[in-house]
Amino acid sequence: MPVSSAVLAEMLTPQAVVSRIRAVLPATEANVALHEPRFQGNEKRYLDDCIDTGWVSYGGAYVERFEGALAKACGTKYAIAVTSGTVALQVALSTGGLRPGDEVLVPGLTFVASANAIVHAGGVPHFVDVDEATFGISPVALAAHLDAVGEVGSDGLYNRVTGRRIFAMLPVLDSLREIAKRHRLLVVEDATEALGSRYKGRPCGSLAPISALSFNGNKIVTSGGGGAILSDDAALAHRIRHLTTTAKQSHPWAFIHDEVAWNFRLPNINAALGLAQLERLPEAVRAKRRLHARYSDVFVSLPGLRVFTEAPFAESNYWLISLVLDRGQEALLDPILKATNMAGLATRPAWVPMHHLPMYEQNPQAPLPVAEDLARRIINVPSSPFLSPE
Ligand SMILES: *Cc1c(COP(=O)(O)O)cnc(C)c1O
Repeated sequence: MPVSSAVLAEMLTPQAVVSRIRAVLPATEANVALHEPRFQGNEKRYLDDCIDTGWVSYGGAYVERFEGALAKACGTKYAIAVTSGTVALQVALSTGGLRPGDEVLVPGLTFVASANAIVHAGGVPHFVDVDEATFGISPVALAAHLDAVGEVGSDGLYNRVTGRRIFAMLPVLDSLREIAKRHRLLVVEDATEALGSRYKGRPCGSLAPISALSFNGNKIVTSGGGGAILSDDAALAHRIRHLTTTAKQSHPWAFIHDEVAWNFRLPNINAALGLAQLERLPEAVRAKRRLHARYSDVFVSLPGLRVFTEAPFAESNYWLISLVLDRGQEALLDPILKATNMAGLATRPAWVPMHHLPMYEQNPQAPLPVAEDLARRIINVPSSPFLSPE
């Protein structure tokens, strides 16, 4: 149905959303996933090479090449490829000095894996509110919350309510960095969705002393599954590489391990896939930005919602493109999700805020009004780069 059709009343209905998403997408795509990879570069060639040479597991040239290309793409000195984004966050926190029972500040509205990673590192997720304009941690709400519950102790900031140390947070903005500095918090950049995005011109993945990436199957670059830790700190990078490789000392034949450690390194076969995908990252980002522009054009005439758009200081990879219902339109969330999915268009709501999940209900938390409110108004729409107009 053409969007220009005069029959389309300027009113927000589930059917109006279906028609507009259809108008954005190529006519050939009947059932459309939320985000799907395509392998149009060197993927097959590199995978064949792994199989032909027998280098499919830990160690191998593609791991090193992938790590080099990641460090280059993000502008860091070091990258260590690991088996998932969750593990990347866990290792970043553990090697960053997290002690058992320390709290880590994390947005209340993000993927549950970020909170899980904190728990696996021995920490306690402490949920803070998000900003409607960025979907990230709100600097204003965070400052007010830390002033209310924070108390300076001998080795950092303490939570007056729980008695636990608040050790780190997972954010990116400069205003948050200032808060972190004032309260002596370690900043770990959760860039698991952000590869290819920029903040004030600087690539995401280079915005904190330690950053984490994910190459899950639905991310902008996939290695099948995988993640990476990025840093400029040589000693830290060396330690992370050692600890994620069973703390095995380099020796031509002997098995000498000098610490309790993890087996978290990315296999060569995954690195080969990831490298071929990464070679096409700039193209994928351009395609996704065109797709976002197209959604914006098509939805601008529909009242009652908007297409989420990057803040002026950001250049987004638009990993997932989101519609945001206006306040007062929340009742349309479920009908729109239903109508679009029934029409073969995969749409998804925001995550359930983590303090509503059974395992995190009792966790320390700031007031979370914006996270709660946004969770009722976000609709993620099909965002694969190949859906983009030429
Ligand atoms: C994808 C993602 C993760 C986890 O990455 P995996 O590679 O799936 O373990 C963590 N946090 C956020 C916000 C993510 O989007």
